Amino acid sequence: MTTERLYYDDSYQLAFSAEVIERTTFKGKPALVLDRTYFYPEGGGQPADQGTLNGAPVVDVQTREPDRAVLHILAAPLDAPHVEGQIDRARRLDHMQHHSGQHVLSQALERAAHAATLSVHMSADSMTLDIDRADLTPDDWAAVEALANQIVLEDRPVRAWFPEPDELAALPIRKLPDVAGKVRIVDVGGFDITACGGTHVARTGEIGVIKVVKAERRGGGTRVEFRCGSRALRDYREKHDVVSRLMSALTVGHRELGETVARLQAENKALRADLKAAREQLADAEALVMLSGATLHGDWRVVARAFEGRSADEVRLLAQKLIAQPGTLALLGAAGDKAQLIFGRAADVDLDIVPVLKAALHTLGVERGGGRPDFAQGGGVSATAGQLQAALSAALSALAR
Ligand SMILES: [Zn+2]
Repeated sequence: MTTERLYYDDSYQLAFSAEVIERTTFKGKPALVLDRTYFYPEGGGQPADQGTLNGAPVVDVQTREPDRAVLHILAAPLDAPHVEGQIDRARRLDHMQHHSGQHVLSQALERAAHAATLSVHMSADSMTLDIDRADLTPDDWAAVEALANQIVLEDRPVRAWFPEPDELAALPIRKLPDVAGKVRIVDVGGFDITACGGTHVARTGEIGVIKVVKAERRGGGTRVEFRCGSRALRDYREKHDVVSRLMSALTVGHRELGETVARLQAENKALRADLKAAREQLADAEALVMLSGATLHGDWRVVARAFEGRSADEVRLLAQKLIAQPGTLALLGAAGDKAQLIFGRAADVDLDIVPVLKAALHTLGVERGGGRPDFAQGGGVSATAGQLQAALSAALSALAR
């Protein structure tokens, strides 16, 4: 004996009585099979209903193959032989709006854009369908949405039934089923006729507005994210809030937002370029001052200095400016949580800087770090300018050897 699926005949009935005909488990959770149910089990892209049996939460509803029994999966076991079922109304209505809306949208895509629906995915977070075309233009999308919303406005009746084989053969069905036995057909006011086992609204007006919110290329097709009715309103409200905040922050109207952001981005890019040039000039000047205080080591001029509160990038730039001068060695450090030692030498200085760096890093307890013979860097541990100064002294001693 299997379950009579009452939701096929009435999507609006949310309370019912039933007999328990089997107690089982599903993935370790207790599950009941009832003689009849209005609970929709997950399938056809539509998520399962939720609700209660005798007040106990039904966390999931699944179809068991091959006998097609409907499993009502519970959070905790329930012993009663009879149950009173209650389906979560908001969740069911949301699924009805979106499932009927999806049928309308799929047919509108066929008629206005010659795009066929390949699959449908509905969840609490998103409603999407995949189509077989990847080249829809903004005009196509506008035409698809206009047609879909026209069908909503016309408030057409929606009918679901199990036709006899000869009636079925004569119907202009969008998506042919691949199941054996009786096929359930959903007719959205003569606009879209397709095989479907889902729960639907009675009239298209209940779907509310249908809006495509995202179209993302997937292989040779497109994943279309859409919202209907109350979700569309929520989406509109969220986006309206964001746009309003941006409008007041930038003191422009919503139509000027795109242009204004593009202008700000261009300004930002120009300012970054100016800042980079100014930093280079500053580093040139600072390097000259540092060089005037360099100590002589044979023919070489050595600048050894640790900085507090300056980034490794800034210190690296200074090192590069210093070693651009012939005969120069730069032994610099940037103190901080991830302190860095940055050592370099001019091209005409015949010295491998890596062992010098390693001698300094050893003082900090760091054994990693290195680079090329003319430029090397290491560190990553917390160190003060004083600790770095001690490490630089070790480097100078290594030079003396
Ligand atoms: Zn369907």
